[in-house]
Amino acid sequence: MPTPFGHGLAALALGTLMGLEEPGDLAAFIGGAMLPDADLAAGLALQGDPMTLHRRFGSHSSLAPVLAAAIAAGVSRARLRHAALAAVGAGLHLAMDSMPWVFVKAESTSVHGWRQFVRSVVINSAFDSAVFGPLAYAAWRWRRRRITPGSGPGAA
Ligand SMILES: [Zn+2]
Repeated sequence: MPTPFGHGLAALALGTLMGLEEPGDLAAFIGGAMLPDADLAAGLALQGDPMTLHRRFGSHSSLAPVLAAAIAAGVSRARLRHAALAAVGAGLHLAMDSMPWVFVKAESTSVHGWRQFVRSVVINSAFDSAVFGPLAYAAWRWRRRRITPGSGPGAA
């Protein structure tokens, strides 16, 4: 399954296609899409192994969109709008995690120690960049062309 970075890139691509232009809107959507994997950081901080708490305690259940919405509503001025976007972002995370991914990643069920963790993050983020980076770029190009038709570099 994608890394938190991959989830963020996919949310950037989809958010761009959805026409989210305000930085706060995109941040709420991307933040919601990355939030469920905060359990990786919690596992690393509390137990020295990011995988020990991963996908436990409801982080990847239907609680995830509710939690994402509550956090977004708490930190944002556009409470309802950002709460909704964060909830949809968390839903995107759950959908992505349940998809079969064709590429094999350098992750095991348990990652011991910082060195192995950093190695795993670097390799898997490179995979995710290769998969989701071009999607995000293509979405950005498509959106830009739609917003400003005929105003490309060659336009008068
Ligand atoms: Zn996840």
